[in-house]
Amino acid sequence: MTLTKESKTLIQEITGSSQLNRLPQSYGGGLCFSKPFFGVSRGDDPLFEKFKEVIAADHPTPAEVWTVNGLLGKNGLSADIRILSMVFPYTSEVREAGKNNDGKLPATLYTIARNYSEEFINMILQQTVEFFIQKGFSALAPKLTPDYGYIKKENPFVLYSNWSERHVAFAAGLGYFGFNNSFITKKGCNVIITSIVTDAPLSVTVRTIDNPHNCLHFTTGKCKECVTKCPSEGLIKEGYQMEACLDYCKEIRGVLAKRPITEVLKKRYRKFQLEDRMEVTYPVGCTFCQFGVPCTDKDPLDIIYTVLQIRFLLAIINIKEVRIFRVTWGRWGRISKT
Ligand code: SF4
Ligand code: SF4
Repeated sequence: MTLTKESKTLIQEITGSSQLNRLPQSYGGGLCFSKPFFGVSRGDDPLFEKFKEVIAADHPTPAEVWTVNGLLGKNGLSADIRILSMVFPYTSEVREAGKNNDGKLPATLYTIARNYSEEFINMILQQTVEFFIQKGFSALAPKLTPDYGYIKKENPFVLYSNWSERHVAFAAGLGYFGFNNSFITKKGCNVIITSIVTDAPLSVTVRTIDNPHNCLHFTTGKCKECVTKCPSEGLIKEGYQMEACLDYCKEIRGVLAKRPITEVLKKRYRKFQLEDRMEVTYPVGCTFCQFGVPCTDKDPLDIIYTVLQIRFLLAIINIKEVRIFRVTWGRWGRISKT
């Protein structure tokens, strides 16, 4: 088995067997995430420099994350680095529950699953890093490094992570950004994404999409069903409004913190780098805009591509039919002439 395959199999096995990937027994004890899938990008992919323009100048390249965290720099380091991006789709049980929210607060089962994702993902990252180290390579999980955190700036308001898992997943060819600001994969946008940086020689995924904004709305001018699901001004017909969205998510956290559900929730430590502040919250989020929409659990463009492919195939078949007809007619014609 190749190292790429071995690492992916390990992560899938842990996902299937870990107790950290389970809802509490009092909520059915089901899995939070179904089988993860993966993409691999190269450290010298020009997109990582581009991210300094589209996210922020201080968003590090994989080689910068590598050396800042004390791993050995060398000539040609970027070309040797691989970034293993992982996508964990919520199970259909969790998604179904999430869809049946009351329009104001997220559904309980989804809230718990999302809350539990933090500890589960951290465990997956630790085990994957250990796996590569045991194989004789170096590896780190940017999310687990001391410098990982959020940068918040005012005028204009902006909040970003100093390792954007969604952008990294885009570089690894795992999907594209939707109108609702989520990352849409082949299993939809209701997913959790994370990544590892390593010098293990993993096979690189071919990225087939170079346009980052590519959902139904961007390609057909229609849809925007996500807008109708948003209970705040976070997503309006003009687009995503980060500050309003975060305000609503904060409001939700405040309401839920007073409910009995907190008995089963786990705390999350969120670091704000510029403010040198650590926020301790329950990661519950909102994400109404991800439920009951065409991109919840699939890539909505797949159907368009499938129709186009079928049309293309039909066109080829038609051409063949015409050719067969021509050839046949010609033969008959020749026969009839003789
Ligand atoms: S609901 Fe429609 S417009 Fe909104 S992100 Fe999904 S595909 Fe795009
Ligand atoms: S996360 Fe919630 S508040 Fe933010 S855009 Fe989506 S539905 Fe609106």
